[in-house]
Amino acid sequence: MNIQKIRADFPILKERINGHQLIYFDNAATTQKPQQVLDSLMNFYTKQNASIHRSIHTLGEQATVLYEQARERVAQFINAQDASEIVFTRGATHSINAVAHSFVLPYLSAGDELVITELEHHSNLLVWQWVCKQTGATLKYIPVNEEGEVQYDMLDSIITARTKFVAICHESNAIGTLVDISRIVQAARAVGAKILVDAAQSAPHQKLDVQAIDCDFLVFSGHKMLAPTGIGVLYVQKNLHDALGPFEFGGGMLYSAQYDSAQYAKMPQLLEAGSPAVAQAVALHAAIDYLEPFLINNQLRTHESQLCAQLIDGLQTIQGLRIIGPVSQIKGFGHLVSFTIDDMHPHDIAAYLDTFAVCVRAGHLCAQPLAHKLGVDSLVRASFYIYNTEQEVHRMVDVLTKMRLP
Ligand code: PMP
Repeated sequence: MNIQKIRADFPILKERINGHQLIYFDNAATTQKPQQVLDSLMNFYTKQNASIHRSIHTLGEQATVLYEQARERVAQFINAQDASEIVFTRGATHSINAVAHSFVLPYLSAGDELVITELEHHSNLLVWQWVCKQTGATLKYIPVNEEGEVQYDMLDSIITARTKFVAICHESNAIGTLVDISRIVQAARAVGAKILVDAAQSAPHQKLDVQAIDCDFLVFSGHKMLAPTGIGVLYVQKNLHDALGPFEFGGGMLYSAQYDSAQYAKMPQLLEAGSPAVAQAVALHAAIDYLEPFLINNQLRTHESQLCAQLIDGLQTIQGLRIIGPVSQIKGFGHLVSFTIDDMHPHDIAAYLDTFAVCVRAGHLCAQPLAHKLGVDSLVRASFYIYNTEQEVHRMVDVLTKMRLP
């Protein structure tokens, strides 16, 4: 990977903040956008913009083709069998909520069990708490140890004949644990449970193959992989299409409507009520075109995990600093590093770094139960992407080292 060439594609990286060159280490929250993606947005709005699926005019037909080509591109990107398995949503949160309402809520009854891990982002936790309250089902957690590693030896006692649905993240947004989803999928399949994979933190960094993963649902957000906000993906395996109900109601998701009833459209339109985010879908297509070559042979993962290893080695020389998460795994295949420093609030650390234009995230990282389980209220997170460099990591370590000097 030629990082300097890549950096030239990202105009925002030339920005200066507080008198310093921007160092953007908040990529697990959202990534910056290359010129190619910005151009695709601008091109759509200047030359191609129209409402899709219902316009008879040429412009509308062209916009419809672009939107459906984006769907085909996403299907190919994750090796779905068919483009009808791809629903465009607003993001991973919206996708998970769609599955909860469209499939899981009517599917669960009292006495059933729904299983998640202790690592989950609030987006893959709160909705399941709510679904279980509504249905009388029980929410169970696959535990993690103090390093944040999943306790796979507990799987047999947690995933049982009562388990109907398993919803797991592929990678923790808070502490970087990479989940061996194949082991969990195997346990879930053995009892006939349906499986959702939250790939919000993995799809931007490695090639995913939904057929090889063998999941029923998989979700991710465009904005964490170079695309604009407001566009996300929900993959639904074809065999389940007839089991889905409508989730949101409105234009685009029906065949016909009468005053007293309606006939709904098939997938994927069934779950795409209202005017969709066409420009954003087209820009997601451009983002995937940009990103995909760097995912071959895990080039991006290699680059990011080298930065993680460099950062961890540098941070470990700082007094009172504690890395939170599975260090050796992150050094080998991670893209983010979380930590705390004794006697300093993570918000103060992030604010201090910001005075040197180093953008990191601080807080409970939308995984409050996990933070508490690991004995902290909040933490600092540096997360890397395609354009980050060793010099930037060196700068962050330098700033923190000087901050701790007496
Ligand atoms: N799951 C994980 C693991 C995430 O990291 C995030 C975003 N931080 C989400 C779900 C939700 O994504 P979004 O806010 O884009 O809907």
